[in-house]
Amino acid sequence: MEKYELAVINGIVLTMDGDMRVLSPGSIGMEGGEIRYVGKDEVRGEEEIDARGCIVTPGFVNCHTHSPMTLFRNAFEDQPLEKWLKEYVWPVEARLKPEHVKIGAKIAAAEMALNGVTCFNDMYFYMDQVAEAAVEVGIRGVLSEGMVELFSDKASEEILRRGTEFARRYHGWRGMIWAALGPHAEYSCSLEFLRRVREEADKLGVGIHIHLAEVKPPVDEFVKEHGKTPIKALDEIGFLKRDVLIAHAIHLDDEDLRIIRERDAAIAYNPVSNMKLASGAARIEEMTRMGIRVGLGTDGPGSNNTLDMIQDMKIASLLQKLKYMDPSSLPAKSAVRIATRGGAEALNLDHLIGSIEIGKRADIVVINTRKVRYQPIRDPYTALAYCGSGSDVKDVIVDGRIIVRDGALQTIDLEKALEEFEKAISELFG
Ligand SMILES: [Zn+2]
Repeated sequence: MEKYELAVINGIVLTMDGDMRVLSPGSIGMEGGEIRYVGKDEVRGEEEIDARGCIVTPGFVNCHTHSPMTLFRNAFEDQPLEKWLKEYVWPVEARLKPEHVKIGAKIAAAEMALNGVTCFNDMYFYMDQVAEAAVEVGIRGVLSEGMVELFSDKASEEILRRGTEFARRYHGWRGMIWAALGPHAEYSCSLEFLRRVREEADKLGVGIHIHLAEVKPPVDEFVKEHGKTPIKALDEIGFLKRDVLIAHAIHLDDEDLRIIRERDAAIAYNPVSNMKLASGAARIEEMTRMGIRVGLGTDGPGSNNTLDMIQDMKIASLLQKLKYMDPSSLPAKSAVRIATRGGAEALNLDHLIGSIEIGKRADIVVINTRKVRYQPIRDPYTALAYCGSGSDVKDVIVDGRIIVRDGALQTIDLEKALEEFEKAISELFG
């Protein structure tokens, strides 16, 4: 029997590879942080995780969030996006210090790890602090310094400089962090600024992470001002390419969809945030059928409020069914796909992560589906997408390292982090 450094044995393994194989029971052998075996043979490990009765998936990829916004969780609830941002979030953000961002991000990274998220795509400020928090907790991050050009008192030069400087310093940092440029949105950045962001991204060889067409009024205003939709205007300046990840993309016309497909830009679908802020429902079922790359995101904890990708898979699917009035829209298997491999594809990281395949990095989640809510499992995609909860995550491996074992975080002292977090909350909100 083959022996590896680390092995997950006896699980119901969803490989999420090209063939979408289900191995039951299946085993995974890992060596040096890499997957060396996946199949039905019995294997041994110097260290072993017994996954009997458990569903085993690739790590979940949270395709869009603002992790330090755990600081804004459970406050100023049930407001429209514009009011929430302008009256509540932005005034407090003006007082944020790097140490607040660090602890907010650390709590988010801990929550994500405990919920099986092994990689997240994040946009905020002081992203060097987020990078450190992610590495301390042991998860991967694609990080972009949020660039809010129009409502900032800083000149656009300075904003662009900070964004590019972060990207230059942190792209590839410690093998766990990648950088992107993060112009905030079509309503908070000028077209000229976005054109310059595109140039800088090309020079740096990093991607772009942007919110577009999230809520309708700014899209209508944009059309009134420019005579075309944000997607068309961005396409005309050469902004849309394969390295662009668009968060939300809700208020699109058919031509916009066609352009996104043609330019091969990717979408982050954030169903809970979109429902909570009453932003609308993105055309995900059509996008996936057209071959547009789609990943699932939680969005920030201020507008979700959790970072539970397993719970959000269900909502992702339900919202599509309701939107199209068709129960076959975004079926369970597709929901699991956009939460794992789809996210890796959307971030252009699928050569490294997103599926359980030989040669990929060992980012693996074991979910305790022995619990009664999953029984009988019958179809593991259905059991996971429709019965699942992030709190059932048992073990999490990132890059071959066990960061969650039997539901407990192994990397940081969570109690201590929560104390620091409470201190930051009282500093910021009194
Ligand atoms: Zn967002």
